[in-house]
Amino acid sequence: MIPYGRQDIQQTDIDAVLEVLQSDFLTQGPVVPRFEQAVAGKVGARHTLAVNSATSALHIACLALDLGPGDWLWTSPITFVASANCGRYCGAQVDFVDIDPRTYNLCPEALAAKLKQAEVEGRLPKVVVAVHLCGHPCDMQAIHALGQRYGFRIIEDASHAIGGRYQGEYIGNCRYSDITVFSFHPVKIITTAEGGMALTNDDALARRMDLLRSHGVTRDPALMTHEPDGPWYYQQIDLGYNYRMTELQAALGLSQLERLDDYVARRNALAERYDAALAELPLTTPWQHPDSYSGRHLYVIRIKRDQIALTHRQVFERLREQGIGVNLHYIPVHTQPYFQNMGLKQGDFPEAERYYSEAISLPMYQGLTDEQQDMVVNCLYRVFEK
Ligand SMILES: *Cc1c(COP(=O)(O)O)cnc(C)c1O
Repeated sequence: MIPYGRQDIQQTDIDAVLEVLQSDFLTQGPVVPRFEQAVAGKVGARHTLAVNSATSALHIACLALDLGPGDWLWTSPITFVASANCGRYCGAQVDFVDIDPRTYNLCPEALAAKLKQAEVEGRLPKVVVAVHLCGHPCDMQAIHALGQRYGFRIIEDASHAIGGRYQGEYIGNCRYSDITVFSFHPVKIITTAEGGMALTNDDALARRMDLLRSHGVTRDPALMTHEPDGPWYYQQIDLGYNYRMTELQAALGLSQLERLDDYVARRNALAERYDAALAELPLTTPWQHPDSYSGRHLYVIRIKRDQIALTHRQVFERLREQGIGVNLHYIPVHTQPYFQNMGLKQGDFPEAERYYSEAISLPMYQGLTDEQQDMVVNCLYRVFEK
């Protein structure tokens, strides 16, 4: 089976991890800060906080932005559930904004219309999570302008997008957001096995997230309520968690980061090959905004159901039968039973639901060879009998 995504591990990665394994620190040592500084330097963010997953990063990001009971978090329905769950962890209510039919990202026009309505009803969101689906950046300038007007804070869920660019700059520089989050899960662009990162240019948010990822405990006398009792002393000044990244993970991330640009270039080359090879088939290939350079975490096609006899499910199953590990990103989050129990309904976000009835993720990862990709293309031709 050719999977839809797969990590790339080389000898240099293995050596880097082994070196840490034989060192003095497996956690809370020097490699995590080195990884953080390397990512900060790469993408141009002032502060970077490595954590044990993007889900944890989203949680501490929401807490740092003071999201809590009585507040609303809005995000896209076409995302992994974690983009919405972070609001629930903080006791906030979650709602969604329908997607743009061309980019599949949260639609700025739909956001503007929903904000206008919410202002009248007195239920404006405190936080909007903009998800760069497949690595293709959201229209951040438009979302930021709405944030200025309506007073909400912005988290970029860039779990798919490290190494991509928006308006010529690396995603993660937080030019149009308060906090950006990356994921280093093995299917994503670079990996630390499990792992994530929160990035911000705001000193206070960084300080808050730093406390939250490690029990709310500080050893910095400047943050304490009184002089330290002695050299052993620490204080707990907030309620935090253990969301720390280990040294082993950071070593892997640091080693992978060196190949980030090559990975994203290879993914874009594969995407262009798919675009050209699939042009004759009854499907839509991913549209790219000219201001964007996608990280290309995923390559999603949408089948033109009115032009084929097969159902969406049949196309999916026939590809799987031929050994192509296609997948579907994502099931609209508002249709999940957990969110339906909070009052969301099928039919609430029609563009997202239409997307779900047509989308299929094809294999897309740096290690995919041209020959394997040609096999995927041939299978698609067979399925569509072209
Ligand atoms: C993978 C993913 C997450 C969660 O990442 P973890 O590191 O596995 O916690 C969150 N949001 C999106 C959009 C993702 O794809």
